[in-house]
Order: sequence, then C-alpha cells, then structure tokens
Amino acid sequence: MDEAGAVPIGQALRGELGRIDGAGLLRRLRTLDGAQGARVELDGRALANFSSNDYLGLAAHPALREAAMEEWGRGGFGAGASRLVCGGLRAHVELEEAVADFKGTAAALCFGSGYAAAVGTVAALCGKDDVVVLDKLSHACLVDGARLSGAALRVFPHNDLSKLESHLKWARRERPSGRVLVVAESVYSMDGDTAPLREMVELKERHGAWMLLDEAHAVGIIGKQGRGLADAAGVADRIEIQMGTLGKALGAHGAYIAGCSELREFLANRARSFVFSTAPPAPVAAAARRAIEIVRSGEGDALRAALRLNTELFAELAGVPKPEAAIVPFVIGGEAQAMDAAARLLDGGFLVPAIRYPTVARGSARLRVTLTASHREGDIRALADLLPAVRGAGFGA
Ligand SMILES: *Cc1c(COP(=O)(O)O)cnc(C)c1O
Repeated sequence: MDEAGAVPIGQALRGELGRIDGAGLLRRLRTLDGAQGARVELDGRALANFSSNDYLGLAAHPALREAAMEEWGRGGFGAGASRLVCGGLRAHVELEEAVADFKGTAAALCFGSGYAAAVGTVAALCGKDDVVVLDKLSHACLVDGARLSGAALRVFPHNDLSKLESHLKWARRERPSGRVLVVAESVYSMDGDTAPLREMVELKERHGAWMLLDEAHAVGIIGKQGRGLADAAGVADRIEIQMGTLGKALGAHGAYIAGCSELREFLANRARSFVFSTAPPAPVAAAARRAIEIVRSGEGDALRAALRLNTELFAELAGVPKPEAAIVPFVIGGEAQAMDAAARLLDGGFLVPAIRYPTVARGSARLRVTLTASHREGDIRALADLLPAVRGAGFGA
C-alpha cells in the first residue's frame, strides 16, 4: 500500500464485521424459495413461518397478482421517474384516492416505502426551530426522520404519558413559536403492544402539538374494516398525520401519509424521499389498491376473524396475555441466547426471528412470533409445544 492509499475497503469492512460478529450481532441474509406465506421453503426445507408481517396472507393472494398483471398489461412495469418529473401514473392517483377514502381523510400521498414516508415527512414538517417528541420504542425510520429534520428531540419512556406531558411543556416553553410534533406508533413493532391513543391525543391538543401516528402494524387488522387504531379509538379526525404501510397486512409494497389536502400537496413539494425518488411501479400500486378493497370487504372481515382466532389460540397455548395485534414477543435477554433459541426453533421446523440490537435495546434480545390468518392450527400448536424447551432457564419471568 503506498502512502496515500486508502485501506482496501474489503479489509476495513472485514475487521468491522468481525467486531459485529464478536458481539453476537452479525446478521445474515436469508433467501426463501417460492412465495411468502405461512409455510415457506428455506434451503430445500419446508418451515412454518412465524416471522412475517403478512398478517392477512395477502402477499400471495391471487387477486393482488391479478391486479398487478392487469396493470402491467395496460402499461408497463417501471414508472421511469419521480412523480414530479414524469413518473406519475393513474394507478398512483387511484391508490391515493382509495387510501384517503379508506382512512376517511381528505387526501393521501404514497411513498416507495414506510421508511421513505417517515423520513421524508418528519424532515419536511420540522426544522431546527421545532421539537419532535418521540416514544422511546419508535421505529428507526421515525427516529431517523426526526434526526434528519434538525429539530430538538425529546424521547419519552414507552407509553409514559406524564413524561410525554413534561416534554410538551418543555417544548412550549423553549420553542414558543416552533412546531411541536408528537410521534407514536399504534402497535409497537417489536413489543406488540398499543399506544394509549386517546390520552396522547388529549395531551398533544392541550399543548398545541401535532401528531404523526405510524399504523404499520395496525392497518388492515385493527378497527372497523381494518382502518387502524386511530379509527378504533375514535380519534382519527384529530390526528393530523396518519401513516401506514402497504407492505405488511396489505401484502403489497409502499406506504401512505393520509391527512388534509394541504399536507399532501406540501409533502409532494417538500418531502425529499418523495421528490427525489422514482415513483413505485404502477402494478405495485394497483396491487395495493386491490388489497385495500379486500381488507374493507367481507373477505377482510373473515381474514381478521381468522387472524384473531389464530392469535388467541397461540397466546392461550403459550401462556401469554392475548396480544392486541398479532405480535407476540418472548424476551430472552442475551443476544447469544436469543440466537440459540431461534436456531433450535429452526431445527424444529419453525422460522421465528431472534431480534437483537439495534432493533431492540441491548440485553433485551427476543424471539418475535407473528401470527397470520393463514397459519394452520397444527403449526400453531406445534410451535407452542416446542417453545418451552427452547426458552431456557429463567425465561418468561
Ligand atoms: C416496517 C415498518 C416501517 C417501514 O415500512 P417499510 O414499508 O417496510 O419501509 C415503518 N414503521 C414501522 C412501525 C414499521 O414496522
């Protein structure tokens, strides 16, 4: 290596990967064969899949495929450019109209992913004179958006209303003319519990703040027609910025921000992850729109009922409280122990992920079981039977 030469990238990163591995935090990409579903194939082995957010089994639903194929037949695949350049197609607008109608808002804007929606929206709405107040367990994309915005960040312990209120008072005192944005999720992705929404909405109103609610793990499965937790709690019309993803219960891809028409127009101008990003393929938008139709229909009700039955059966057999959504965490603690437990489940034919830092706090590694409407009763029973053996001593305390 000559004096001005950089360390070869492979060598530098090998060293870093070694340190990540040494801490028990190295992740490896898995490749499934075939389609996403309640049973999947990995390295030629059939596994019962308890790791997916495809809660209603729509990811492989024939109607979504049909909608995508129809759209493909009409147009093509790629959108070719950002919506603001020339990539905006009828399928995008039709999807946004369907989302707004579903959510009962004046308008909606769709993004290429939930990550892009969160980062773009928070950073567009807030700046250095403003305050973003976040729940400690907020998804990384919300945290990243808040950081990128340059606003002052205030984090409150998970679902702690009195700490939320003291941050709101601080914000009003320190930034009297700034915006204050409260950020929360309706169902927390790695814990599966819900936010005390009604109380949070009261607080943000009392202290002159707006609220962004991320319904990633609620839309499709909670509330009437699966409209989400804000609707179920009767506060949807009081939450200014309602976010949801189209790639979990809706089985497609992308995300939406629903709210007033000014919000839609503002984000289309100022959310950088929208402005500077190619529009999603039209067939994907068409599939997402078909998913919304299914979710709102009698079939959606039947799928939610099946999901609820599966979730309740699993919770009862596993001896845990009935989850509010479809996520059941089993906190193990150590990263290595959680990895070991997941490996033993895999040996037994179950795909259940071990969730580690940085997705959850250090020392709170866990198994995360997600239930779907398409799980078979036998698989649910077999998983519940096997779990105690892989838990290890002291588990579940
Ligand atoms: C999955 C998830 C996202 C990101 O959505 P993608 O469409 O997967 O990028 C955002 N927020 C929460 C709470 C999530 O669980």
